[in-house]
Amino acid sequence: MEDIKQKIVDFYEPKLFGKGVAKLRGGRFIQLGNKRKVYLTFGKHYKDEKEAIEGGAYRTTPHDLFVLLFPEEAEKLVDKRTEKYLEKLNKTLGLVDYKAGYEEEDVDVEQVYTQFIGGDIEVGKTNDGKWLAQYSKRTDVDDYVVVRMYFSRFPSQKDVETAKLLKEIEHHFMLYGYDAAKFNCWECGKERHWLDIPGGLREKWPAYLEKYCGC
Ligand SMILES: [Zn+2]
Repeated sequence: MEDIKQKIVDFYEPKLFGKGVAKLRGGRFIQLGNKRKVYLTFGKHYKDEKEAIEGGAYRTTPHDLFVLLFPEEAEKLVDKRTEKYLEKLNKTLGLVDYKAGYEEEDVDVEQVYTQFIGGDIEVGKTNDGKWLAQYSKRTDVDDYVVVRMYFSRFPSQKDVETAKLLKEIEHHFMLYGYDAAKFNCWECGKERHWLDIPGGLREKWPAYLEKYCGC
C-alpha cells in the first residue's frame, strides 16, 4: 500500500483543496464520500477498462483515494457510524455498482416496476450475471439521465427504492460533509446523530432532513 501511495504522490502531487476535497495535478478533484469507481492511469491512455487493468492502472474511488492520501484529514471528517451503516445497507441490498449518464444498457427486461414519480424501472440480467435496474430521470425541462443500478441478486421494487434513497444520502453527505451527520434538534435543542432517530431508514432520513430527533 505504501508503494502505491508513494507512486500516486509522486505522479499526481495531491494537495488539500478544502473540506474533504483534494486536487490532483492536472486539475482532477477527489472528494471524500464519492464512491464512484475510477482508475488512475499515471498519464497513460487506455481504450477501455480491461486494457487499463492489464496495463497496471490503479482502481479505486475518490473516497478511498482521499483516505489513502490524507488519512488524518479523513479521520477528522468521516463519520464512522454513518459510513458503517451505509456500507452495511449496500451489502444487504447487494448493490454493487451505480452509474448515471446518457447511456442505456441493452438487457432483456424481465420485470418492470412503475414509479409514482419518474419513468418505469426496467430490471434485467446483464451478460456478466448481475441484475440491472435502470430508469430515466428528468433533470431539467429538456434533459434527463439514465440511472443504472447493478445488484448481485434480483432486486425487488423496495430494494430499488432503498438503493435510490441510499444514493441520495451518500450525495447529501458528499455535499455537506460527514460531520453533518450530527445536528441540533429544533424541538428539544439537543445535539443528535441522525442514526439516533428511531425507526428504519425511511423514518430516520426524512426526520433528519427536518432536523427533528423524534423526541
Ligand atoms: Zn429532539
